[in-house]
Amino acid sequence: MAYTLAPLPYDYTALAPTLDEQTLHLHHDKHHQAYVNNLNAAIEKHPELFSKSVDELLLDLTAIPEDIRTPVRNNGGGVANHNQYWEIMTPGGSAAPVGKLAAKIVSTFGSIDDFKTKFNAGGVGRFGSGWVWLVSDKSGNLSIVSTANQDTPASDGLIPILGNDVWEHAYYITYQNRRPDYLAAWWTVVNWDIAEKRYEAV
Ligand code: MN
Repeated sequence: MAYTLAPLPYDYTALAPTLDEQTLHLHHDKHHQAYVNNLNAAIEKHPELFSKSVDELLLDLTAIPEDIRTPVRNNGGGVANHNQYWEIMTPGGSAAPVGKLAAKIVSTFGSIDDFKTKFNAGGVGRFGSGWVWLVSDKSGNLSIVSTANQDTPASDGLIPILGNDVWEHAYYITYQNRRPDYLAAWWTVVNWDIAEKRYEAV
């Protein structure tokens, strides 16, 4: 069974003005779809791997046959990273971090605002295209990491809690070159309830 692209879980206008309608159409319908298509094309060469979820493929890239390892890393990463990206946003956002995650963010980074500042700096500091993440290790310790291209922290044994896309295709129509403005505005659509659920699952 080939991998498929789930519909956007809200209307294309639902995240405006933080993320505009045209950006969501291009980002979901074109960019994310292309990662799905390209992943399927790669896995066709080893169709037994279709039995694994995309997340499972990425957990151990050394287990992927060498002839498709790079396309799986790039396109499988693109599929998984965008799946979590759409899920971690919601119209209007949720007001503030909740539960155990909020407490751990405060004890790790000092305050919610300090955390956001460090996360945004991680996104600004990513040279070229990539992602900035709040991740947990298997013991529940939090850190902020940045990955290049479509690499996912899951391939390094870390659990993504929150990931923001800093590829220009994520923000250029509204924010042009102003990546820091996009990163600052993004918090208004973050779904902290999902972040808490991801952390509880750790
Ligand atoms: Mn993207």
